[in-house]
Amino acid sequence: MRPLTNALAAGTLILAATGLASGAHADGEVNVYSYRQPDLIKPLLDAFQKETGVTANVLFLDKGLVERIQAEGANSPADVILTVDISRLTEAKDAGVTQSVKSEIIDSDIPAQYRDPDGNWFGLTTRGRVVYASKERVPETEITYEDLADPKWKGRICTRDGQHSYNIGLFASMLARHGEAETEKWLTGLKNNLAKKPDGSDRDQAKAIFAGECDIALGNTYYVGLMMTNEKEPEQKEWASAIKVLFPNSNDRGTHVNISGMAMAKNAPNKENAQKLMDFLASGEAQEIYAEQVFEYPVMPGKEPADIVKGFGQIKPDTLPLSEIAANRKKASELVDKVGYNDGPAGE
Ligand code: FE
Repeated sequence: MRPLTNALAAGTLILAATGLASGAHADGEVNVYSYRQPDLIKPLLDAFQKETGVTANVLFLDKGLVERIQAEGANSPADVILTVDISRLTEAKDAGVTQSVKSEIIDSDIPAQYRDPDGNWFGLTTRGRVVYASKERVPETEITYEDLADPKWKGRICTRDGQHSYNIGLFASMLARHGEAETEKWLTGLKNNLAKKPDGSDRDQAKAIFAGECDIALGNTYYVGLMMTNEKEPEQKEWASAIKVLFPNSNDRGTHVNISGMAMAKNAPNKENAQKLMDFLASGEAQEIYAEQVFEYPVMPGKEPADIVKGFGQIKPDTLPLSEIAANRKKASELVDKVGYNDGPAGE
C-alpha cells in the first residue's frame, strides 16, 4: 500500500509538499516523517529547497511513527525522521528504524553531547526543563533541582505525570549526577512537596500557579513562549504572565535540557538527499530558523533563540550527554513508581 493512501485512510496524517508548482522534482526529493507540525518546519524546508533544488515532502504523524516505518519495512519511503525528545529518538534507534550517519558537517555543527555516539540521532535544538515560579509569591531568583526536595516547598509544587518523558529526562539526569540512592531520596522529597497529584500538561502547571494552587512548577521553556503568544486561547497569556522562568543550577552544572532532533531512516530510498537535508538542518543558520519557530535553543554555541526566549534570561545547559540521559531513563521510570510519585503528596 502506498503511504499516502494509508495516511488518508487512517485520517490522522497530513501530507504536505513544500515544493514549488513547477519543476519541483527536478533535483529529486526527500521524504521527511515528522512528529513536528508541518507549519513549524516549512520555513526550513523551503530554505533547503531554495539552496539545493531538492523537494522535501513532509508526512506529519501525531503518533506511531516508529511502528509505521517498521510496518513499511524495506519499502519505506521515509528518508529523514524529525522528532522531539531523547525518548523518541532512542525509541527509533532501538526499534532499528534508523541508520548511522557520519558527516563532518554535522559533527562540527552539533556538539557531541547532543548526538548519538553511533550517529543514529542528532539534536538540532534544546529545550530547558525549568522552574516556573509565581511572580507574586516566590521572591527567590534561583532554585536548584535539589532545592525542590526542601521541606520549605511543602504543598507548593505542581508537576505533570512523573512518567512523562519530560520528567523522566530530568530524573534521569539526577540519576546520572547523584546516583540511585540520593535520587530516590530527592524524588521522595519532591513528591512530598507536591500541592496535588501530578496531572495535566506543562501549561496546566502555569495555569495552576496563576490560580494560586501552587507556587512553583516544572515546565519546558518553549511552552512559556507558546503561552505568551497564544492568540487562539488568550487566557494562556495570563498564565504566562503569572510566572517567571528560573533556570535551575545555573551556578553549578547547568539546567537540564532535552533535544528536538533528526535521524536518517534505515531504508532511506533517497539517501543522498537525506544526507543533504541533514547537513542543512545541522547548520547554525538552519538551527536558528528552527529554534525561532519553536521557541527553543539552537545547539550550536553562539547561535541565538527567539527574542521572547532571550527574555527569559540566559540558559546554561547541563553538559551531560543526552546519551547518558537515555541510558538512565528506565531506572528513572522505575524510581517514579517506587516512590509512588503519581500518588501525589503523602497523606492526601
Ligand atoms: Fe512539549
